[in-house]
Order: sequence, then C-alpha cells, then structure tokens
Amino acid sequence: MSDKILVTSPLLPKLDEFYDLLKQVWDSKWITNNGSFHQQLEKELAAYLKVPYVSLFTNGTLPLITALQALHISGEVITTPYSFVATTHALWWNGIKPVFVDIDPATGNIDPDRIEEAITSRTTAIMPVHVYGKPCDTKRIQEIADKYGLRVIYDAAHAFGVEVNGESILNAGDMSTLSFHATKVYNTIEGGAMVMHDEQTKKRIDYLKNFGFAGETTVVGPGINSKVDEVRAAYGLLNLKQVDAAIEARHQVAIAYREALRPVKGIMFFDDMPGVKHNYSYFPIFVDAEEYGMTRDELYFKMKERNVLGRRYFYPLISTFSTYKGLESSRPDNLPNAHKMADTVICLPMHHELSSNDIQRIINVILDNNG
Ligand SMILES: *Cc1c(COP(=O)(O)O)cnc(C)c1O
Repeated sequence: MSDKILVTSPLLPKLDEFYDLLKQVWDSKWITNNGSFHQQLEKELAAYLKVPYVSLFTNGTLPLITALQALHISGEVITTPYSFVATTHALWWNGIKPVFVDIDPATGNIDPDRIEEAITSRTTAIMPVHVYGKPCDTKRIQEIADKYGLRVIYDAAHAFGVEVNGESILNAGDMSTLSFHATKVYNTIEGGAMVMHDEQTKKRIDYLKNFGFAGETTVVGPGINSKVDEVRAAYGLLNLKQVDAAIEARHQVAIAYREALRPVKGIMFFDDMPGVKHNYSYFPIFVDAEEYGMTRDELYFKMKERNVLGRRYFYPLISTFSTYKGLESSRPDNLPNAHKMADTVICLPMHHELSSNDIQRIINVILDNNG
C-alpha cells in the first residue's frame, strides 16, 4: 500500500534557525506580553501584507469575537453558511443572531445580490468570508453597508497575501481577521491577527486582547486574553521568510491539477480570477455525479481507500448544525447554492511539499472513473 497523502502539511521553520531565536528568548527571559519578536512580527506582517496595522492574536477565532466587541455589534449580522464554523460561532458568542445569505456559485462567497433582502431594522453588520482565499465583491458589499449604515468585518482566514489589482484584500471593510493555524498557508502553529486601518483602532484592539489594560492600573473595557508569546512570534518570523516559496509551490500544484482535470467530465474547479494574486490555500473540486458517474462521497471514500486524503470542506453547512438549524435563514430553500456546493465539494491535497508523484497518484484516482 502506498503512503498516505495528507490534505495539508504545515510550513515549518528550519529547526536550527528556530533554535537560534529560542536561545534569544531564553536569554532575555521575556517570553510573552508584547515582546520584541511580537512587535517585530506585527511590523513585518503589515509590510508583507501591504496593510497599515496588524494586531497579533492567539488564534483566528478570537479576532472575530474581538472585532464584534470592539465595534459594539449587536442584533443581527448577515453572514454566509459556507465557511468554517468559527465564523458563525463568533457571532453566537457575542449574543448576535446570524442571518445566513446564500452564496454565489461562481465564487463560493456570499452573494451580494441577496444581502439587501436579508437586512432588517436589527441588522448592524455584514460578516463575509473570502472562501478558499477568493476575494469577495468588496466594492458591492461596501456600497450596501454604506447605504444601510452597516459595519463590515471580513473573516479573511483563507486570504493571507491575497491582492486585487495590487491592493491587499485585507484593506476592505472595517476590519479583517486572519488565522495562522497550522493548516493555513502561513502558520504560527496556533495564531491569528486582526488588520485595521488606523492607529486608534490598533491601540484599542491591543487593549482588548490584553484584558482591557491601557496601562499598569487602567482597564478601559472588558478585554479578553489573546496575546501571542515570543516562541510563536519567533516561529512566525521565520515562516514569513519562506511563505512566498510555499505559495509558489502551491501554485505549481494548482497548475498541474487544472491541466490534468480540465478534460475530466463532471469535475469542476475554479480558475484564477483576473487581476487577483491568489495564495492557493485550497484546491476544491466539485463533483457532478451524473456526468462523472460517481457521487462526491463515492469519490471521497475511494480516494481514502487509496490513501489520498481529501476533505469535504465545507460540509456540512454551518446552517445545518444543531445550534443554527432552527434559524429562519437556515431553511435549505433559502440556501440552495450553498447546499449544492457543500454536497459536491472535495478539497484535494494542497501544500508546499506535494511531489509530482503524489500529484499523479491523486489525479489517477480521479481519472480512473472517467472516459
Ligand atoms: C481556520 C478558520 C477560522 C478559525 O481560525 P483558528 O485559528 O482555527 O481559530 C475562522 N474562519 C475560517 C474561515 C477558517 O478557515
């Protein structure tokens, strides 16, 4: 039996370089609370991502929760069911009612044409997701938000480094949040960040992620603890140096997949969008059972048998989980495109270490059934 091909593999710093930085942390004995590596990583990330301000968080969920707190969002927030559960959980943890809007099948992102009909007198914000790192229609979404006086918080967990016409997608909306979890394009093992536009907001967020402390004895609000330690900041600095090479390796995988799968009947995938710098964080394929001759689940389990581990990502839809399924907006007939995507998707293995042998094995499993 051939080796397992995993869906992802974490980008890891070189151990000897990491050791050198760890030695500095040990020598300084300053191991957390806005240490020098922490400060350096915030600066380097802001420069790399082409954004004005970055605040590091200990994961990608807490900046979502904190952004909603910081902007005093309440009532109802319009969001997408086609995401990782953390997006909607962040609303629930703030006592906010999620209102699901269907997605655009061409991108997997929230359909701007469906947002206005979901707005009520209780709506205070829109929380879209750049799914698979594909940019939302940020211009349309902002126009709607401005028209109704709504805030926009982007869950940009997949959108590290993504640019549209040379500008970072992270500059859209009021704030954007990132995840640096081990499974993401850029990781600090566990980690995340918030991107904001002005120094005032950066300051306030830095208070809020540190219990609300604005000085030794001043607490300006009910903050949380979401600080990042020096060990993970050092790890993050080293990974930042190699993330471009990792993204380019992923790009080559995407090229190979597209070339091999384009002639396959019943297998759909996304192409690059014009003017967009992608990060190739995921490679979702969509199975048309009738044309392909096998259902998504049949293909998924066949891959598994052959030790090729894909992921049905995002299945099931968030709106079907017990917490959310009773909501009015969770009715399947409100979300036909999202259901269809969730029922047909498989994310193929995608990471910087896939060999051409691996890629061929993955493609062979899919071709096996076709033509
Ligand atoms: C990974 C992810 C998160 C959560 O990030 P963590 O770092 O795991 O807390 C939030 N939203 C989306 C869309 C994600 O993919």
